[in-house]
Amino acid sequence: MATFKAIRIDKAEKGTTAALTQFDEAELMDGDVTVAVEWSTVNYKDGLAVTGKSPVVRRFPMIAGIDFAGTVLDSSHPSWKAGDKVVCNGWGMGETHLGAYAEKARVKGDWLVRLPDGISARQAMAVGTAGYTAMLSVLALEKHGLSPKDGPIVVTGAAGGVGSVAIALLSKLGYQVIASTGRTSEEAYLRELGATEIIDRNELSAPGKPLGKERWAGGIDSVGSTTLANLLAMTKYRGAIAACGLAGGMDLPASVAPFILRGVCLYGIDSVMCPLPDRQQAWSRLATDLDPAKLEQMTQEIGLDQVIDTGAKVLAGQVRGRIVVKIA
Ligand code: NDP
Repeated sequence: MATFKAIRIDKAEKGTTAALTQFDEAELMDGDVTVAVEWSTVNYKDGLAVTGKSPVVRRFPMIAGIDFAGTVLDSSHPSWKAGDKVVCNGWGMGETHLGAYAEKARVKGDWLVRLPDGISARQAMAVGTAGYTAMLSVLALEKHGLSPKDGPIVVTGAAGGVGSVAIALLSKLGYQVIASTGRTSEEAYLRELGATEIIDRNELSAPGKPLGKERWAGGIDSVGSTTLANLLAMTKYRGAIAACGLAGGMDLPASVAPFILRGVCLYGIDSVMCPLPDRQQAWSRLATDLDPAKLEQMTQEIGLDQVIDTGAKVLAGQVRGRIVVKIA
């Protein structure tokens, strides 16, 4: 029986269990490409899956992990052959399809993106789903028509994964970046990534007025709830906010005032089912617009045996920037 190392989630009497164990290769799910996984990462959703804090896993047994980078072992898909370097994010991996915390993954070839020139498999997972979501958010603001001359961009959850990559990207593109964080002790880190102003997240988290002083041309929000409502209320005329997260809550206690009186737009960002051309664009822009030195500065490396503990720390807001997981 051929087996490989994996983090397996099983249903328990109460909730779920997670353990690093051997997984039987015969249990891999259908797919036309088998990949030797080399690197993965710990995203917020991975934290939810390995701790069982939220029912993100919907098939058992499951291998956790929503994204990987690796090398194709074999393929019956026309786009892929053995030896190709690939990245895979989302598509239900770690939720409904066996995921990334494993030495092997079998997926649909249509889910894969070719690793762009200039990005290693390790760097791709230092970016991970969080960083690729930050890029999708920047692309949404650009598509809206924003440019650095329009004014600053606010980034919430600034010291987290999405936030850290968003700051590095925006500053490289020439934007002034206002970083909102609950960890003002991370001011030096956020300024090194490129933030020009730091604000305490308490300034944005209490219920506010339907409209406030116009402070930013746009924003990237990974927090949601009252924070997102306040972001909208303080966005300049015809500005835009890209909403991608819910670290502060799933609700949105806002009014329509910013939309109907200031023409503000709210863009929803989904990385999981995002169509392939948008993914390819995001990964190719990450290869050119993310400073590799800043990426390295925000990244810590761990092994598969540390993923479960680290997932709990991510949920507790104790992890700064990005975590990369060495699989092979
Ligand atoms: P991280 O845990 O790395 O970062 C989240 C950050 O949010 C924290 O570092 C903290 O930043 C801030 N935060 C945490 N708790 C609260 C709170 N109660 N109130 C206000 N701020 C808080 O997660 P990621 O960056 O990986 O993900 C951020 C969010 O984006 C998550 O909700 C995640 O589910 C979502 N996401 C969505 C995707 C999509 O497809 N739409 C894809 C990827 C992520 P600080 O300490 O600086 O205040």
